[in-house]
Amino acid sequence: MGESSKKLEGEVAIITGGASGIGEATTRHFINQAARAVVIADVQDEKGQELAKSISLDRYLYIHCDVSDEDHIKTVVETIVKTYGQLDVMFCNAGIINNAEQTILVLDLTQYEKLFYVYVLGTTASVKHAARAMVEGKVKGSIICTASMGSLQYTDYTMSKHAVVGLMRSASKQLGGYGIRINSMSPGAVVTPLICGKIGMEAEKVERTFESSSYLNGVLKAKHVAEAVVFLVSDESEFITGHNLAVDGGYKQS
Ligand code: NAD
Repeated sequence: MGESSKKLEGEVAIITGGASGIGEATTRHFINQAARAVVIADVQDEKGQELAKSISLDRYLYIHCDVSDEDHIKTVVETIVKTYGQLDVMFCNAGIINNAEQTILVLDLTQYEKLFYVYVLGTTASVKHAARAMVEGKVKGSIICTASMGSLQYTDYTMSKHAVVGLMRSASKQLGGYGIRINSMSPGAVVTPLICGKIGMEAEKVERTFESSSYLNGVLKAKHVAEAVVFLVSDESEFITGHNLAVDGGYKQS
């Protein structure tokens, strides 16, 4: 393994929403980058456990965790610190999308609330408990949150992702003194189960519709996002905090 492929050597990480899509790609990438342990915190038990088994490394662990319940997050963080001695990386990535249209004139507030529980409460609880563990363990850790470049037509989704960026910026001021960095990254459109489910099309067809969504030729893949996350976590970005990194090939915003 070359020097450049060991960017996370010895690190202990939690990835919320790690069982699927961007989280799954990042989970695999973290292991390739020599992380000591990667914990998938998700609500898809079967998928998460299968992923952990498919890698068949004891460095890979699945824990059931609903991010919209603060106690779940607290328990996962405590378990990881007890098992591995410390937490170095928290990737707050779990996500859902509403099937309802969610434009302002027809906004379904029950759906809106569900989305806010996952993105706003869930990300806040994840940042809070990860940061507390890092401060207590005197770990100069790194926290990454998944925001988004789109889609302005979904009012609640746009609002919740703005809240994630606001949380990240505010926390970066408060955590910098402890040597803890926090950043977010905003992907453009990536073919994942979340998007395919929303559009109601199979992956290959969705990918074709995304071919013209960026100024760069080609299609944004989950692996591109995973590579950006590794950059933001690794020492290569050691003096970057409070930043929201677009990972979109130059997104032609609709
Ligand atoms: P995905 O559906 O493939 O993965 C999301 C994961 O989050 C799933 O494994 C799901 O089980 C998990 N999850 C959902 N609710 C949860 C909860 N309450 N607690 C714990 N885990 C939960 O979707 P994805 O596209 O990989 O989405 C990952 C993140 O990327 C989301 O935050 C999403 O908003 C963001 N994002 C996606 C795109 C895209 O085009 N796919 C673009 C921008 C941002």
